Amino acid sequence: MEKAHFFGASKKWLALILCGVIILGIIAADFFINREKSEKTYVAMGTVITSKIQGKGSAEAEEEIRTMINGMETACLSWRCEGSDVYRINEHNGTFESVSQDTAKWIADCVDVSEKSSGAFDITIGKVTKLWNFDGESSNVPSSKEIEKALQAVDYSKMLFNSTAVKIAKGQFIDLGAVGKGIACDSAREILENSGVKSATVSVGGSVLVFGKSATVGVICPDDDTKCVGTINLKDKCVSTSGDYERFFEKDGKKYHHILDPYTGYPVENNLRSVTVICDSGLLSDALSTACFVLGYKGSLGLLNNYDAEAIYIFDDNTIAVTDGVKSFKLTDNSYKMK
Ligand code: ADP
Ligand code: MG
Repeated sequence: MEKAHFFGASKKWLALILCGVIILGIIAADFFINREKSEKTYVAMGTVITSKIQGKGSAEAEEEIRTMINGMETACLSWRCEGSDVYRINEHNGTFESVSQDTAKWIADCVDVSEKSSGAFDITIGKVTKLWNFDGESSNVPSSKEIEKALQAVDYSKMLFNSTAVKIAKGQFIDLGAVGKGIACDSAREILENSGVKSATVSVGGSVLVFGKSATVGVICPDDDTKCVGTINLKDKCVSTSGDYERFFEKDGKKYHHILDPYTGYPVENNLRSVTVICDSGLLSDALSTACFVLGYKGSLGLLNNYDAEAIYIFDDNTIAVTDGVKSFKLTDNSYKMK
């Protein structure tokens, strides 16, 4: 009996030890799989891209994201790349042009933001942005006559589209520069979801995707873009910033920046230095940051509500305002104050 009892107890112990070993094995395997990570920085879309991916398959996902971003610019988004969807839409202004379903959907989303922002955001601003040429080396202030002429082509309501084709009116020119980086974040998220990696942050210029686990994102200081004025904690969100410091030139002591008022054709002049928008979609965070900059602080709060988006506004008197849903903002630069 005694022996049988002892044998039964040892069997129990053996089973327990075996379970322990299996559990430890699973934990160790998970640890090693999720320790796999990939961190890369490179230049594409005319900006710096940094991806930090954790978990099994991170290197493959990183490579796929890089290929996607390069392809997206040349096949879809850039008005400069001969043969891209946007290039062909512009080339064939006045007639319907077949495009990928993705491009048609992105354009439809842009037009929705135009409608809800009463035209403060308008991708048909292309003739005006080309005139200012903020990407070029020798930037000049265009004459008021030139601006007036280019403005005649700006009107999103003249665009027509379905799920596979887009038509702009004769003489119009579209520029998706305000949403390209956000779109890249959305497409990166799709790749990450399908790859099964654990978590990632992908930053494409002024747009950042936080995927899988929470991460701290810095809000850039408008006077020195190597510093941050504060931080926010995000998880499974996109965040985009539009600022007057991102692309600009100075002429005769006056600063001209790249966020344009579609009604005047000139750089927006209000009391804002930057707007950072947080929401689920990269395209929307990017479009909304541009639109909110144009509309100004009070004028843009209603637009954010339409999209369940939150924002951080930095003003030219070094004050900062955040919308009610921004709970995690931490001010880190004491030369700025909360409003
Ligand atoms: P960045 O491209 O530097 O991240 P934004 O996202 O704010 O900055 O986009 C600014 C770009 O969008 C400009 O360079 C121009 O190509 C385009 N743009 C400027 N003003 C408008 C506007 N009101 N609506 C739509 N696009 C705009
Ligand atoms: Mg933008």
